[in-house]
Amino acid sequence: MFYKDSRQVYRVPELDGFEWLVHGFGTRLSHIPALFSNLATLKQVHSASCIAAAGRSGVLGPGDALLEDTPGSVVAVRTADCIPLLLIDERRRAVAAVHAGWRGTVARIAHRAVEAMSERFDSSPSDLHAAIGPGIGKCCYEVGPEVAEQFGGQGRAHIDLPETNRRQLIEAGVTPEHIYASNLCTMCRPEEFHSFRRDKEAAGRLYSFVGLR
Ligand SMILES: [Zn+2]
Repeated sequence: MFYKDSRQVYRVPELDGFEWLVHGFGTRLSHIPALFSNLATLKQVHSASCIAAAGRSGVLGPGDALLEDTPGSVVAVRTADCIPLLLIDERRRAVAAVHAGWRGTVARIAHRAVEAMSERFDSSPSDLHAAIGPGIGKCCYEVGPEVAEQFGGQGRAHIDLPETNRRQLIEAGVTPEHIYASNLCTMCRPEEFHSFRRDKEAAGRLYSFVGLR
């Protein structure tokens, strides 16, 4: 079960066991950029492009997944309803932060990010752990026919982005027992999370981060 630490950051107990790792999903009460001096983010474009940060910091991209294996470096994605995913290779000590909205999900970015870790770090999917952070839940994510069609539905429908991404990770070879889902809906919890659907242009962004000590 995800829990919230003293910095108002959600963490995964199973990932706390890796002493070399830093990870977390920020809330609207946490100030993630202030926590790290070597933080890389992306110009996010709803693609399936995966980029190696390779020790760089600042805004990289364009792309929607950031890979890293440099000690002292942290990568992050920024979301408000879209699904943040963190990937951790416990053997290679490599990580990725992934931004998966509906377009990225249709482009199969979760699957693509697992492949990119294999290519860049020689990661084996069976060594990966994946955390699915706070994003819009099926409860609140009703879409029109043109989006529903992309997910095999018809007419207006409720789409389950976290579950669709979980299935992509399994198809990519990640062990189901190594996938940790927050089941936290950004739209249902205004006191904790930004939500673009709820707050429109006034919505802030949540930082989800992962890196090496
Ligand atoms: Zn909801």
